[in-house]
Amino acid sequence: MSERGETKYIFVTGGVVSALGKGISSASIGLLLQKRGLNVQNIKLDPYLNVDPGTMNPFQHGEVFVLDDGSETDLDLGHYERFLDQSLSKDNNVTTGQIYNTIISRERRGDYLGATVQVIPHVTEEIKNRIKRLKNKDPRPDVIIAEIGGTVGDIESLPFLEAIRQIGLEEGPQNTMFLHLTLVPYITSAGEFKTKPTQHSVKSLREIGIQPNMLLCRSAKPISDDLRKKISLFCSVPVRSVIVAQDVSTIYQVPLGYHAQEVDQIVCEHFNLNLPEPDLEEWENMVGKIINPVRRIKIGICGKYVGLKDAYKSIIEAFIHAGVASDAEVNLIWVSSEDIKHNGADKFLYDVDGLLIPGGFGERGVEGKIEAIHYVRENNIPFLGICLGMQCAVIEYARNACGLEDAHSYEFYRDLKHPVIHLMADQEGVTELGGTMRLGAYPCIVEENSRTFEAYKTAEISERHRHRYEFNNVYREMLTRNGLFLAGLSPDKRLVEIIEVPTHPWFVGVQFHPELKSHPTKPHPLFRDFVRAAVIYNSKKKNR
Ligand code: GLN
Repeated sequence: MSERGETKYIFVTGGVVSALGKGISSASIGLLLQKRGLNVQNIKLDPYLNVDPGTMNPFQHGEVFVLDDGSETDLDLGHYERFLDQSLSKDNNVTTGQIYNTIISRERRGDYLGATVQVIPHVTEEIKNRIKRLKNKDPRPDVIIAEIGGTVGDIESLPFLEAIRQIGLEEGPQNTMFLHLTLVPYITSAGEFKTKPTQHSVKSLREIGIQPNMLLCRSAKPISDDLRKKISLFCSVPVRSVIVAQDVSTIYQVPLGYHAQEVDQIVCEHFNLNLPEPDLEEWENMVGKIINPVRRIKIGICGKYVGLKDAYKSIIEAFIHAGVASDAEVNLIWVSSEDIKHNGADKFLYDVDGLLIPGGFGERGVEGKIEAIHYVRENNIPFLGICLGMQCAVIEYARNACGLEDAHSYEFYRDLKHPVIHLMADQEGVTELGGTMRLGAYPCIVEENSRTFEAYKTAEISERHRHRYEFNNVYREMLTRNGLFLAGLSPDKRLVEIIEVPTHPWFVGVQFHPELKSHPTKPHPLFRDFVRAAVIYNSKKKNR
């Protein structure tokens, strides 16, 4: 037991509708408690039956957030890592699929000794174990914040709600707190807010045996104190704990809004913790810079899933962080790679200050990406290629700078004359899709006279990966002879991790995903320098 006593549990549930921002709320409360000196572990419990989101279509699920340990997790883990500046592990994301996987293997081994295996107690016990085992993390957490995916009332999330109810009973009210995120809609035609959905959502929670201690009320406009009193009365939550979570211009304002309403103070009082006020100065400065940028630049993003921004969540956030370092607002111009293929790059990219090609899978849109890269390479527009984006840059260079007209990736065509990107050796014979890519953090050695070294200011870096294909070493000699710079290799020199075009102002392609390790107060060095290069390009363009 630490001097702060037993580990405390905060459970975050959501009501009325999904997508209210439980992840950001959980991360914000985590940040405030961390800034008060507590060790915090966030965990996301996802009710779906997939073992992890790695096999899900990003259109449905949004981005897959890869951790250092190689686990493929929900994008909320990205919020936790970004807000708390932590590196999380597979233990911080649990899915129903994982729970059932464990239970069914146990049952097949005969571990249940003839018992009938049931949702209660077997599934709920396993859920409780997964939450409680976070207590063994180093440093030992003072607070575990468990976010339950889905919305109260969903069939799938019932076992999770039952499990947290039981933890409440076992650990006692002094060690557990239930927070409920809800929506207070404003009905324009009636000109008033409606509290009924919140009342119903809390009623559903109570039917399960959970009485929330705090309500976080999402709303588009400010909510009056009278309305808060009404919600308090109907939902049996002290009025001080009816928090207004009004729409904000940046998610990084959320912790500040909560702190202004004493959320962290209420939590500390609930747990009987006497702690100093959090120091939020650095965070406030960062938010100030996001809200009041000195300049604006445009970065084109050319990808397959441009219709669903959640598919590129970490990239969007990494640009916000990088913008802070250059006092710039980065306006992202989403361009469908198929549009470029049909209408040409110039039509969409003529006024961008930089181009980013993100990671991706599958052949659709690849020719458009290659064309976009060709356009920015020729026109000296800053470029950052991530994973598939780097692979496309290699293909473009092979075709247009080395004369290998039919260069392509083995991912898309098997019968190729010049497979400049090919299958990684350890991927041969892999047939299962789930969790079988090259995943997680790997070291890389950066060449000193490179843009990348300029950014990181160190030769030894570690970044997260998620891919099956790689730069084909057969073409190393040919491509470097024609001016491509292999700026980063794996320590055994067998894998090309970073490419650059030294004759270009800023042209970098990386096989890894730098966006996964960017923090609001610590922008990722590559995103930071890419945005800086785009700012320079923009000011030169204006002076022309
Ligand atoms: N599809 C490519 C590969 O598997 C790139 C993957 C990615 O961009 N994450 O290698």
